[in-house]
Amino acid sequence: MNDICYCRRLAVIRCSWTDANPGRRFYSCELHRNAGGCGFFVWLDPPMCERSRNVIPGLLRSTERLQVELQTARRREKRVWIAVVISWLIFVLLIWLGASERSEMGQGSGEMKELPM
Ligand SMILES: [Zn+2]
Repeated sequence: MNDICYCRRLAVIRCSWTDANPGRRFYSCELHRNAGGCGFFVWLDPPMCERSRNVIPGLLRSTERLQVELQTARRREKRVWIAVVISWLIFVLLIWLGASERSEMGQGSGEMKELPM
């Protein structure tokens, strides 16, 4: 049985992300060695072929780079949206202030004087 470790706990399945074994799963002790684990380790998946070992790390790095770029783009998009909302609020405020000033001026000189005939 590969799913019981040396300290008789149920072994957990983990995934290796090293360049030599990218994505290859293995059984290990539930506890890390530093936390009192027994260091149990058995591969679950068979060894990877040479081609996979050469290609997969590059794909993982490009995926990681794209994720970083995506996070950066999302943060930039959020900042642009905040700027758009603030600029529209300022725009609406200026329109509203301009309209209220015009109505005040209209009230002051709104008295109609009749011209003598
Ligand atoms: Zn153990």
